[in-house]
Amino acid sequence: MTVNTWIVVAGDPAIATLIETARALGGDVTAAVVGTRATAETVAAGGVDKVLWFGEPGDAPVEAFGTAVADAVAAAPGVVLGAGGPGERVLLGAAAARLQAPVLTGASAVTAEGDTIVISRSIFGGIAEESLTVTGPVVLVLEGGPVPAATGTAPIEDVAVTPLGVVIVETSVSDVAQVDLGAAPRVVGIGRGLKAQADLALVEALADATKAEVACSRPVAEGLDWLGKDRYIGVSGAHISPDLYVAIGISGQLQHMVGVRGAKTIVAINTDANAPVFKDADYGLVGDLYELVPALTAALK
Ligand SMILES: Cc1cc2nc3c(=O)[nH]c(=O)nc-3n(C[C@H](O)[C@H](O)[C@H](O)COP(=O)(O)OP(=O)(O)OC[C@H]3O[C@@H](n4cnc5c(N)ncnc54)[C@H](O)[C@@H]3O)c2cc1C
Repeated sequence: MTVNTWIVVAGDPAIATLIETARALGGDVTAAVVGTRATAETVAAGGVDKVLWFGEPGDAPVEAFGTAVADAVAAAPGVVLGAGGPGERVLLGAAAARLQAPVLTGASAVTAEGDTIVISRSIFGGIAEESLTVTGPVVLVLEGGPVPAATGTAPIEDVAVTPLGVVIVETSVSDVAQVDLGAAPRVVGIGRGLKAQADLALVEALADATKAEVACSRPVAEGLDWLGKDRYIGVSGAHISPDLYVAIGISGQLQHMVGVRGAKTIVAINTDANAPVFKDADYGLVGDLYELVPALTAALK
């Protein structure tokens, strides 16, 4: 038996992994796209069988398209895939409600065994994996992957939509800078080993010398409030995969370290030779950060 699959796209066509997953299920792959014509064309070239294009949101938020996308999906129920962007989540939620289907987040693998869908996903911040089976329609949120390479030309069908009567009347940009730690090639993380907020200057100097972003453990961002919440790493913070992660004055508790599993090289600086961080580190410096960090910065300069 083959399974028909929907891929829901709300703007960003970074869905190569979704197409691969859908293709492996063996049935027809239809994409439902809310976004620009260029987005619809990128998706159509990326290896799907058909694109339903619901148009550009314009001054309507993506929420205004939920009913239209759900109607289309409900006309041919199957497995509905989407990346975890805010727009996709809205459309997937609408589709799930219409299909009366479960929504499962964090799926890492999806296969079909007869008419049963088998889903694997990591839990507890990546320290365990569970398998689930579903019969009937299901909505899955998973990693979208990169923008697909152009491999074909699927037909694009324009869907006439009357967006629900909700309109964006104003957009104002926050003046709080947000950092994208996930995209940083080098990251210097600081923990509670730092004694005062003013001493962040030491860490910033090292980050400057290594062209790295500054990050931290959760207590530094939540509790001490020395850095923004967008800068803490871990199970409930950012997950990063830089070439280099330097953990300074961070004990290396599991909740922090699951966020740096993707780092290629980890360097740890800690006064406590038995700190758990050294188990995960490629290079460890046992010593006082107040001596080692300025020395490292000077050497790197
Ligand atoms: C549900 C839950 C979710 C959590 N999620 C996260 C998360 O996402 N991210 C996260 O980071 N934490 C998270 N935590 C908290 C986590 O368990 C740890 O408490 C936290 O990571 C510890 O932060 P730390 O390493 O900065 O501080 P500490 O554990 O206090 O470690 C400080 C380290 O600094 C060293 N040190 C002290 N002075 C110096 C010096 N002068 N020079 C060098 N080293 C020095 C010490 O030896 C020590 O190892 C979570 C906890 C829970 C319960």
